Amino acid sequence: MAFAQVIGQEGAKRVLRRALEHGRLAHAYLFFGPEGVGKEATALALAQAILCEKQGSYGCGECASCRKVTTLTHPDVRFVFPAPRELDADREREILDSVVQEPYARLRPWANPVISIERIRAIRHDSSLKSFEGRGRVVILAEADAMTAEAANALLKLLEEPPPATTLILTTTMVQGLLPTIVSRCQQVRFALLSAQEIEAALIQRRQVPAEQARLIAGMANGSYRRAIEWLEQDVNQRRDEAIELLRTAIRADHDHVLQAEQLRALGDRAMVKEYLRLLLSIFHDALVLTAAGPESDNRRMLINFDRCDWLQKFVGAFEQIDFEQAIGAVEESIARIDRNLELSLVLIVLFQRLRAALRRKSNV
Ligand SMILES: [Zn+2]
Repeated sequence: MAFAQVIGQEGAKRVLRRALEHGRLAHAYLFFGPEGVGKEATALALAQAILCEKQGSYGCGECASCRKVTTLTHPDVRFVFPAPRELDADREREILDSVVQEPYARLRPWANPVISIERIRAIRHDSSLKSFEGRGRVVILAEADAMTAEAANALLKLLEEPPPATTLILTTTMVQGLLPTIVSRCQQVRFALLSAQEIEAALIQRRQVPAEQARLIAGMANGSYRRAIEWLEQDVNQRRDEAIELLRTAIRADHDHVLQAEQLRALGDRAMVKEYLRLLLSIFHDALVLTAAGPESDNRRMLINFDRCDWLQKFVGAFEQIDFEQAIGAVEESIARIDRNLELSLVLIVLFQRLRAALRRKSNV
């Protein structure tokens, strides 16, 4: 992974390139921002640039060192990630290989993994030795907020007396999950959500996704390339039909809603229900675009579900009035409530009530 292969993130890349150019790298960086936007990919690119055999190339991608960083086999690079306390070498290699394959993919094959103090001690031990290839060391702590309290304290000591020629890169989606004293000792680099255009182009270029599907998925990915590649694994059309069915169920007035929520819970786990709710957001987004723009307007190009334009038109037309603020707010709050682990059927019952209040229908949709 070289800088050129990192999708978007021009701001972050500029900061890092400038530091490399002037030989002013910080001892420690904190890459923070939403998930799936390229923090780990950029950390790997920075590692490559630091250790590249060709001076001033920002990581040529071709020298032996660059190739070893790309395959995560470089003796001076450590990539630490949340894992069970007992992680055997084979399993570790497996995960590293998956990072090599796709640095934008999700890292968590385990429930409640941690970065343990042993991992930090190993880093400290490494940094007391000379680097193997003489160009320094790079340690990447992915999802650093998963450090245990002991690990965080050990890392803090390391940051207080930074070892020479070692660059530490922490990544996190949750800065508040780190000790403030750690945060303040790192140079912070913010990562932004990607644009739909950036995701679309990346899907076409890297995954050979047909243009129309790439546009659809990019629109649904909410700025995260990770979410986009997760959508590739699923049948978007089917999921969307199910989301529409969920909406129909939600606004049907003549139902036993407690029972309904029970049925919906059978749809899948929390993650799945969250996906449906995100799809509902994309439908409301489009309905709002159509309502605001009128049917013949050019704004149709702003639709996420552009391939369902006729259905969306009918949907909008079936209601006397849609209170978008209420509807979108209700769905967003439900997603937040699911994240907070509230009981799924309760979340859905409340959501349905609010949706029925927000959508006043004329006829059947
Ligand atoms: Zn190189």
